[in-house]
Amino acid sequence: MERPRGILVIISSPSGAGKTTLARRLLGEFPELEFSVSYTTRPKRTGEREGHDYHFISAEEFQRMAGAGEFAEWAEVHGNHYGTSRAAVERALSAGRDVVFDVDGQGGCALAAKWPGDSLRVFVLPPSLSSLEERLRRRATDTDEVIRRRLKKAIEELAYHRRYEHRIVNDDLDRAYQTLRELYVTAKRTLPGDASELEALRDGDRNRGDWEHAERLIAEGGRRAGGEGAPAAGR
Ligand code: ADP
Ligand code: 5GP
Repeated sequence: MERPRGILVIISSPSGAGKTTLARRLLGEFPELEFSVSYTTRPKRTGEREGHDYHFISAEEFQRMAGAGEFAEWAEVHGNHYGTSRAAVERALSAGRDVVFDVDGQGGCALAAKWPGDSLRVFVLPPSLSSLEERLRRRATDTDEVIRRRLKKAIEELAYHRRYEHRIVNDDLDRAYQTLRELYVTAKRTLPGDASELEALRDGDRNRGDWEHAERLIAEGGRRAGGEGAPAAGR
């Protein structure tokens, strides 16, 4: 039987942990899934396409849309504004289409609060802080200054994992993807309504281990912030 309403697949992570890679792969495998294209005031990166990665708009237009209540949620991240169109989400969900969101932790929490019972929330974790830094650098789409800011924000963002039901450590991409896929297929079959299978996955050993991994990263981030204060001030 067709589900009457679609579900929200909310994927968040510190910048560079791999949520876009994982989200795009899920979208590639399940053509019925739709990506929620956010609005942003950030400049377009090389290779990004208008209407595919983001709707790139001016700060004035963003203000107008926010003032008119057109966003289901919006946030300032790294000095730029990002927002999710309320109408686009509603249209997809009412038509029975599932929607993937690549948003930050606060955005993910706001969306899940708006559509409780219809949301699958997954937090992607890097294997280590050094691998996160390396991935941010390898992506090579940002300047050094932007990368430093993103890394600091990434460490702060890690604490949001506590507000997500599921975690995935993105060490091996194929393994990480299989976990995301399993979560999605289970959610698709059981939401809204019976969340017991998802709860079993949430309470499973893997997710508990990944929670501990996240807590270790947060502790390491705290130590780094303390230890790096002096040299950073001299830069
Ligand atoms: P995010 O959307 O979380 O900022 P991306 O998906 O853009 O992160 O990934 C950041 C970089 O890390 C990209 O260059 C991507 O190809 C790479 N990457 C993603 N997952 C892995 C992985 N499991 N192992 C190694 N590199 C990865
Ligand atoms: P990037 O500039 O790397 O594309 O995205 C920066 C951060 O903004 C990422 O954590 C991304 O998930 C988040 N983001 C993208 N779109 C939205 C949105 O519509 N709302 C919120 N809250 N965050 C978003």
